[in-house]
Amino acid sequence: MAKIGRQKKKQIKVKKEKFIPQSLKGMRDILPEEGKYFDYFLEKLEKLAKIYGFEKIEIPILEEKSLFTRSIGQTTDIVEKEMFSFVDKGGREVALRPEGTAGVVRAYIENGMQNLPQPVKLYYFGPMFRYEKPQAGRERQFHQFGLEVLGAAGPIVDVQLILLCWNFFQEIKLQTELQINCLGCPDCQKEYRRRLLEFFRYKKRLLCPNCRIRLEKSPLRIFDCKEKKCQEISSTAPSIVDCLCEACKNHFIKVLENLDELEIPYNLNSRLVRGLDYYTKTVFEFWPSRIGLSDEEKSRFSLAGGGRYDNLVKILGGPVTPAAGVAFGLERITEEFKNQNLKLPKERRNIVFLAQIGETAKKKALHLFENLVKAKIDIKEALAKDSLKAQLELANKIGAKLVLILGQDEVAHKTIIIKDMRTGIQEVVNVDKIVEEIKKRL
Ligand SMILES: [Zn+2]
Ligand SMILES: [Zn+2]
Repeated sequence: MAKIGRQKKKQIKVKKEKFIPQSLKGMRDILPEEGKYFDYFLEKLEKLAKIYGFEKIEIPILEEKSLFTRSIGQTTDIVEKEMFSFVDKGGREVALRPEGTAGVVRAYIENGMQNLPQPVKLYYFGPMFRYEKPQAGRERQFHQFGLEVLGAAGPIVDVQLILLCWNFFQEIKLQTELQINCLGCPDCQKEYRRRLLEFFRYKKRLLCPNCRIRLEKSPLRIFDCKEKKCQEISSTAPSIVDCLCEACKNHFIKVLENLDELEIPYNLNSRLVRGLDYYTKTVFEFWPSRIGLSDEEKSRFSLAGGGRYDNLVKILGGPVTPAAGVAFGLERITEEFKNQNLKLPKERRNIVFLAQIGETAKKKALHLFENLVKAKIDIKEALAKDSLKAQLELANKIGAKLVLILGQDEVAHKTIIIKDMRTGIQEVVNVDKIVEEIKKRL
């Protein structure tokens, strides 16, 4: 009996697995190396946004799911397949934001911003979430910088948004190409739908089941389909530009005329529909421009995209408010920046490194460091390190121009060594005069 018992115990003994936490699929850490690119782009974008009169808004990451289904559209890929949604403890259906515009529009209505002088110009930055199969350039969590202009109808607004993008890409020297289209108003889209139904009358059977539903509900979405067959058929479909009403046509012509005036090159692209239902009139994207990339690849790695959404505020329960916006994909821009062999500008800094040897010197150095920060010296330290060699190596790595060395002797004599890293010359100076001595040498 005892023997059997022991055997049993042996079998039951579960192999203890060590718990190693891992990030979720499609959720990536932005390590300091990539963060430097983000900071560089964000600094430029924020500066441009402010020049054009935009103010910052922070909107929640989590919203009611219906905000997105109503604004982005039921038949879009984002809502149909890519929503990061779940039921919270209160039984509410919520979703991590797949994009920023819907949340900004909700905030505009909820906070009565229609009572402010119009247009209201807002910018935001933060993570967005789409539950899709993670692949290069399309993670489940990604970051966007976005701009929205609410309460302005003129084509000049569309042009200014495009100009801002253009200036940004010029400034960071990224080669891009502007794709532009006009999706018209609900009237134009009604006419377009009629023409599409006519065109697909005998071809409907050849479309994938999804597209057959799309054709009924939201025909523009056929152009989002990734099925080869659907793409082939829709490539000969009538273009929306031919269905534009007078007002929409004039709007589009004015946008293009302004772009010509500004000498911003563009490609008219009648297949550009942007994958969201709320767009009206102008839509545009900036694609990476690089030899060897097909149009299909370029469109998949669009760096920035936006357009006009004159009906969205009304759809979400607000007053009729014409609006337009654009969003930049930070991961994509970083990736393309590297692909085009561009480099971050070297920071011109006068770094001074404070090295120390021994306990007493370490204590003194802690204090001295604070004083140098107050004196606005670009000072760096490695107080956690003991070896002088390791500290000097680090100073060299971060490009320090001067190294201050504090040891037992120096503390005793109230002095400090200044080493010029360019010449290698070392001098002993009075520690009380250190700020002047540093400034003299930088
Ligand atoms: Zn129209
Ligand atoms: Zn299809």
